[in-house]
Amino acid sequence: MGTGIGSGLLVNGLTYRGASGNTGEVGHICLDLTGPECWCGARGCLEALAGPAAVVERARANRRLARAAGLARRNSVLTDFAALSRAARRGEAGAVALLEESARYVAVAVRTLANVMDLEAVVLTGPSFAIAGASYLPAIRDELERAFFARTTHVPEVHLSRAAATAPAIGAAAMVLQSELVPLHDGLRLPDKLNVSEPPLASPA
Ligand SMILES: [Zn+2]
Repeated sequence: MGTGIGSGLLVNGLTYRGASGNTGEVGHICLDLTGPECWCGARGCLEALAGPAAVVERARANRRLARAAGLARRNSVLTDFAALSRAARRGEAGAVALLEESARYVAVAVRTLANVMDLEAVVLTGPSFAIAGASYLPAIRDELERAFFARTTHVPEVHLSRAAATAPAIGAAAMVLQSELVPLHDGLRLPDKLNVSEPPLASPA
């Protein structure tokens, strides 16, 4: 979770890329058929309902909360998400409520992914989890213990990455290194020539 929400899947130790490298778009799991429009063209996506940008937007619209947490439209989403998280830690009720609501949505989407893939473990990473992971971790664990389909056999472990803040840079660097230096099976290499005029559908995160 950065400004948007996505996921990567490791299957038998290898990254599962899907047909076009767009696998794991949990931010676009639909959680409300008639929910708000999402930038992807669908409605009620997790990201539109409960991603950091949506949470910050809702907090900025609440004048009292925005003042108490020091939010401002000129700030970046991550700057204000961090300010909101600090306000929640101080016990500011409006901030706590917004983060708890977001965490419930994220937890349901994680459960959906866990059910589809019968996951063994979930690692929360990215700048927004570095900022507010403590607000999300318990909600995700509770949801999996309460409602994961195969919970009588096993419950996926949930961890907060120690490298959450730098995950995007590390991931990008690892892709380049793996593509150039590691002999991999067909289909796991970056394309020889990246077509810049037709980029894959990607989130703005
Ligand atoms: Zn969407």
